[in-house]
Amino acid sequence: MAVFCNRCGTGLPGSARFCSNCGAVISVAQPMPGRPLVRPHVGRQIAGVCLALAQANGWDVAVVRIFAVIGFFLTSGFVGVAYVAGWIGIPEEPIELPGAYPPGI
Ligand SMILES: [Zn+2]
Repeated sequence: MAVFCNRCGTGLPGSARFCSNCGAVISVAQPMPGRPLVRPHVGRQIAGVCLALAQANGWDVAVVRIFAVIGFFLTSGFVGVAYVAGWIGIPEEPIELPGAYPPGI
């Protein structure tokens, strides 16, 4: 995977840490922090799609819901179709069962 210098735009091999043209440090894109894209059980309103998107991207869930409702009317329901697609496509958060007690048995 090729990377590009943020300062001068020179194309560099994916393993480069410094630009061979200008010497700038190459910052490798890190994966998004936060949770995987799953629909949580706690805090969901309908199916947890907005909550899943908010938690996976670090957004405020209230903002995501407001945009979803506004988008539903502005796009004549396309967001609703996308919501159902997310309902089907985004897996549920696995249920964490309590372990055996005492632990280690
Ligand atoms: Zn450079």
